[in-house]
Amino acid sequence: MERAELLKAIRSKIVEGQIATIYPAPLAFQRHGGGDLCRACNEPILGNNVSIRYRIGRGEHHSFHVVCDAVRRTVAAKILSLGVLMTS
Ligand SMILES: [Zn+2]
Repeated sequence: MERAELLKAIRSKIVEGQIATIYPAPLAFQRHGGGDLCRACNEPILGNNVSIRYRIGRGEHHSFHVVCDAVRRTVAAKILSLGVLMTS
């Protein structure tokens, strides 16, 4: 997924509440993806992709590629600093 596309996808997911602007500390950094889908780009986290996993509730987790999570933080910071949810 291209960066511009990823930014757009992440922004709309945050707006729709599918992913959070702020997560508690990551549950785990995993050196090898376990095939979980990345919440940001919807692609499986495989092979030697490092991933970050956050616990969001009882037995529920959100996993991200490290790169996707970095983009998520950037987008979230922008949304939070503007104080509005931009939809386009
Ligand atoms: Zn991803």
